[in-house]
Amino acid sequence: MSDGVHLKDIGKDYDAVTAVDKVALDLPKGTLLTLLGPSGCGKTTVLRMIAGFVDPSRGEILLDGVDVTRVPPEKRGTAMVFQNYALFPHMTVFDNVAFGLRLRREKRAALTRKVNEALDLVRLGDFARRYPGELSGGQQQRAALARCLVIEPKVLLLDEPFGALDRHLREGMQTELRKLQQQLGITTVLVTHDQQEALALSDYIAVMNHGRVEQFGAPREVYDRPRSRFVADFMGVSNMIPGRVRASGGGRVFEAERYGTFALPATGGEANGDALLALRPDALRLDPAGLPGEVSFATLTGSHYVCEVRLDAGGELTVNLPRTDPRAAAGTRISVSADPAETVILPA
Ligand code: ATP
Repeated sequence: MSDGVHLKDIGKDYDAVTAVDKVALDLPKGTLLTLLGPSGCGKTTVLRMIAGFVDPSRGEILLDGVDVTRVPPEKRGTAMVFQNYALFPHMTVFDNVAFGLRLRREKRAALTRKVNEALDLVRLGDFARRYPGELSGGQQQRAALARCLVIEPKVLLLDEPFGALDRHLREGMQTELRKLQQQLGITTVLVTHDQQEALALSDYIAVMNHGRVEQFGAPREVYDRPRSRFVADFMGVSNMIPGRVRASGGGRVFEAERYGTFALPATGGEANGDALLALRPDALRLDPAGLPGEVSFATLTGSHYVCEVRLDAGGELTVNLPRTDPRAAAGTRISVSADPAETVILPA
């Protein structure tokens, strides 16, 4: 363990409040980690501790093998893009991007070359002489990114970088950022409360709750195999059914009052006893042998319909149906079953 970001049980107290507690994360060089969680879970505090703007109460921070826990922010080799971009309004784009290099007393020719390269990288080559107020939101964000990239930081830190952009622009910028990050191989930590954004951009996701990392893993792992109700909820599982796991015919089944019996994969999750069955809306499928019910409400999201289904036996399930399925309409009778491979068992 050397290059990359290593957080060793860092914590932060504000008087009686513990904002961050025992956060331990190892991020290999060149990868992108997203700190994901609801407002107040401590993700920004972790980012600011990495940047050096907040002193940890406990623990150590290593960047590329160097303990920087007590090193001032400007000497850490980190660079941060803030949600509001924090560009200097009275300076041109060129001068904004040149700022960090001037602080380092970079020679004039090298400075001009590096600034122009950074501006080309974010496709702002033609905007060098403009002021931030003369740029669109997306352009301002690219200028803020260029200002960071130009100093070739060991670690790029991004605090809700897309929060101020409208949805369409946000998706475009997410793709651009990810391409650039991979092309440059720059170690990056990003903070967001948007699970779609985390899934789209990350090599690793740390889901945070009450100052702690509740689950860490690759996006698919966190999405497909949430280990707690909190993570499942946050990753968009809307069906949580209480019941019991028991052995049956060499395998395992889940028994729920009203909902009946669900087949389970042989391994994973709680072995036996009281548990929650977590079913993603896309883990349910139409099946004549499944649970009968009626669609009570259907909303089109673009790629598919999200349907609320009132079961004849009582209870409700949320089910995704393809955009083209005519059964995705209130009043339609359908039967649904769960794909055993897509079921997740959580502690009760
Ligand atoms: P958000 O998405 O709303 O920014 P967050 O997950 O980034 O939330 P933090 O900003 O890290 O959360 O805050 C974590 C906790 O620490 C919160 O309860 C917050 O009120 C508290 N906190 C943060 N900064 C301070 C401070 N300077 N003084 C006292 N408490 C603070």
